Amino acid sequence: MQYTISGTTRFGGLLGSPVAHSLSPAMHNTSFQELGIDCVYLAFDVTAERLKETVSVFRQLNTYGFNLTMPCKKAVIDSLDELSEAARLIGAVNTVVNCGGRLTGHNTDGIGYVESARENGVEICGSEITVLGAGGAAMAAAVQMALDGARRIHIANRRTRSWSAAQHLVDTINKETQCEADLTDLEDSTVLARHIADSSLLTNATSAGMAPDTGVTPVKDPSVFHEGLTVSDVIYNPRQTRLMREASERGCRTFNGMYMLLYQGAAAFRLWTGQDMPVERIKERYFS
Ligand code: NDP
Repeated sequence: MQYTISGTTRFGGLLGSPVAHSLSPAMHNTSFQELGIDCVYLAFDVTAERLKETVSVFRQLNTYGFNLTMPCKKAVIDSLDELSEAARLIGAVNTVVNCGGRLTGHNTDGIGYVESARENGVEICGSEITVLGAGGAAMAAAVQMALDGARRIHIANRRTRSWSAAQHLVDTINKETQCEADLTDLEDSTVLARHIADSSLLTNATSAGMAPDTGVTPVKDPSVFHEGLTVSDVIYNPRQTRLMREASERGCRTFNGMYMLLYQGAAAFRLWTGQDMPVERIKERYFS
């Protein structure tokens, strides 16, 4: 497909810092080209302090919208006109749609996780799930799974920095969705083992095991991995974490965070263009 920037080309992009490493420009620009959509996607290194003025420019310049990464996902909320239900419950925005100057914030990180789980044969609706962690990735994945009909979600987190965030996550799910949630100390191996035994999906949404600390795992006792349990990691570097390897050795199906990244982008693309990202092409080109 011929691809030319012209007087009618609309732009959007990624706001945050750092952004130079991001796969999003490649994913979105390839998709625009493949589908013949007259748009481009760029990466802008923007700190939280400069976010408000940048968003105001994006609003005025007829952009289709933009993505946000750290440290802008929470800071952007005050500059927006509206939030999707998921973005409101998660308290963070990774995608903004600009409709004639009106800015609506969405969070597609959880959608990306749920979509990648479905692709790996996991049914969220009606399921019992254990989620490790209470940071941004955990919040997005757990809230989206609750909105998508998960029956019960056990959150396990360390009693440290993010313990109050974990309590807030559990309260939000219990108050705002039909799903039941509870909170466990990640160090309480007895309760954690019981929750994992009752779960069909274990989601590691902590950064434990991420490169360069690849020897670390949030689950100290691998005997908790049972047949019928799918074990997933939101981490994608390395592609196979220690947690995934130990679960796989005990017969569990496993998947990493690569397709969460892909499908959060695909969901943003659909919000901006109304069209499906050519995901098979994107997988082949950037995720294989
Ligand atoms: P945050 O810093 O917001 O949260 C990290 C969470 O992990 C906290 O609950 C933290 O607990 C916990 N944690 C960190 N180290 C350990 C450890 N050694 N043992 C147990 N718990 C630990 O990070 P994010 O939620 O933004 O990111 C988490 C991971 O998700 C990262 O690896 C990131 O790359 C990945 N990610 C992947 C995405 C994808 O598209 N695939 C999207 C977003 C994130 P504490 O407060 O105690 O430190």
